[in-house]
Amino acid sequence: MDHVQTEEKIFQQKFNFPELPYSYDALEPYFDKQTMEIHYSKHHRAYYEKFLNAIKGTKAEDISVEEIFNNINEFSTAIRNNGGGYYNHSLFWTILSPAKNSSPTGEFSEVITKSFGSFEKFKEIFNNAATMRFGSGWAWLSVNNNGDLQVSSSPNQDNPLMNDSEYQGTPILNLDVWEHAYYLKYQNRRPDYINAFWNIINWEEVEKRYLRAI
Ligand code: MN
Repeated sequence: MDHVQTEEKIFQQKFNFPELPYSYDALEPYFDKQTMEIHYSKHHRAYYEKFLNAIKGTKAEDISVEEIFNNINEFSTAIRNNGGGYYNHSLFWTILSPAKNSSPTGEFSEVITKSFGSFEKFKEIFNNAATMRFGSGWAWLSVNNNGDLQVSSSPNQDNPLMNDSEYQGTPILNLDVWEHAYYLKYQNRRPDYINAFWNIINWEEVEKRYLRAI
């Protein structure tokens, strides 16, 4: 799996804590300022610090996070959960944008249509994955080993890079459906949060990740 070995831009500096590429209030009114601040500076930061703690003195210190995921069963549950939390949020911030593009453009829009029938159909499938995920987890758009787009969801902080994932691939878009991602603004209304998400996707970044993955 060549694409798994490709170092993500955000990990060029090994295991750094990425900067949020916009201000906490940039995604208002869809994602509120308070949630963004707590989510990034508390939740994401805690996964990152617990991850660094968990890998200390293990062979995970010497390899990339992708290589850890690619042999995930060789590592502790703490490395799985916190490494996942670290990676998944690092990706999530980059695929969000205050630019408010409502849909992909150009070539990538054609790839979506070819893969799912239409953009509306893709949204429906992705929304279903995000809504039906019981408890805490993530919804994903990934490029699988055949170079095809696939939608999936994962429990906890698992992701499609983990080699025991049912839907392995390179993630290019994700949505956090843990309650901490939406409870302050949307309370129990996960579907409202999921609908809001479609207003603030950075499609340029998603397309860039797609082109790197194929
Ligand atoms: Mn989260």
